[in-house]
Amino acid sequence: MSKQCDYLIYNVQIATMLDGPGPYGAIENGCVAIDNGKIQYVGAMENVEASALNTFDGGGKWLLPGFVDCHTHLVYGGDRANEFDMRLNGLSYQQIAEQGGGIKSTVAATRSATAETLLASAKDRATALINEGVTTLEVKSGYGLDINTEIKMLQVAKTLSVVLPVNVLTTYLGAHAIPDEYTDDPDGYIDFVCGQVIPEISALNLADSVDIFCENIGFTPAQCKRVFETAKRFGLNIKAHVEQLSDLKGAKLACDYHALSVDHIEYLAPTDVSYLKQSNTVAVLLPGAFYFLKEKQKPPVETLRRLQVPMAVATDLNPGSSPIASILTCANMACVLFELTPEEALRAITINAAKALGLNDRGQISPGCRADLCLWDISHPAQLVYTINQYKPLMRWFGGQLV
Ligand SMILES: [Zn+2]
Repeated sequence: MSKQCDYLIYNVQIATMLDGPGPYGAIENGCVAIDNGKIQYVGAMENVEASALNTFDGGGKWLLPGFVDCHTHLVYGGDRANEFDMRLNGLSYQQIAEQGGGIKSTVAATRSATAETLLASAKDRATALINEGVTTLEVKSGYGLDINTEIKMLQVAKTLSVVLPVNVLTTYLGAHAIPDEYTDDPDGYIDFVCGQVIPEISALNLADSVDIFCENIGFTPAQCKRVFETAKRFGLNIKAHVEQLSDLKGAKLACDYHALSVDHIEYLAPTDVSYLKQSNTVAVLLPGAFYFLKEKQKPPVETLRRLQVPMAVATDLNPGSSPIASILTCANMACVLFELTPEEALRAITINAAKALGLNDRGQISPGCRADLCLWDISHPAQLVYTINQYKPLMRWFGGQLV
């Protein structure tokens, strides 16, 4: 390569996260040329005669793509620390629910919070993720359930990308829980989601995707199917919480609608993994919720690996089942709890997490991609997932800009 570029990062070891030839798609003694916010060239130093306006000597350290957290619920009111306390003082879920706890307490707190209050707490959580190297994150609604609060949540999520150095993708999760107004009429609530909220959110351009919670304690496959049909009609992508606590064949249903991802999937039958393969759907593993809920049933990782279904890992950051604002902790949990290799875990929070959001311009270091990059003072990429809370990036570039 010999061309003028804005910025050249040189003398770095690069984990491109592309396939082969070696682990992590690594390039030793490499450089990355950036122009106009995008990666122009990636390769070995000796092939380069670039003239850059600015250069940065990486000191032989490791350069990785910015991380992608592809599943969060980080906009919400209140918190559930009091319920955690009650639970560990011996109260049952039933008793906590009777005292107004559980998701209902978060819905009430989110409905009554102002957009400013929601933004302030969401900003703190997003900042914790960003400080650990996250450059793209997804945020779901689903704690308002009424139309105004769902819109408020999605607007707050979008505002995060205005006030922080991060790209935010938004997902409407109306079919998260049945609100009190519809306790006796769940199908009526789905009528409302499909007939009123999705058209309104689509008209306001507030969501990239639509998500559902298909579960015995959530929505039936028939109800989820109606949501998928409507999402397709409005040109929105589909994501799905499925097979977390039981096997309702929600993953197969989501794959029939070419979902970008199916998430949780602890109870996904190994014989159903082929549906993900056929529909090019990403398997999103959420070990934080598995850990927090002390689950026993593990996702079918061996079959996902054998059929080469891309696996992503996300924080699932939420107040009820995964209050964990650390993507690297979740990558570590994916290794310890689900037996992913360190390389699989790092692909799971970069290239495969981007794929779970329908994005192919990030999560990897290759020409044409966004220059979202982090420099790490490590001797091997596996150190990032082997340790917990030991490393923060030395430098971060967001769209080619040092932040
Ligand atoms: Zn979730």
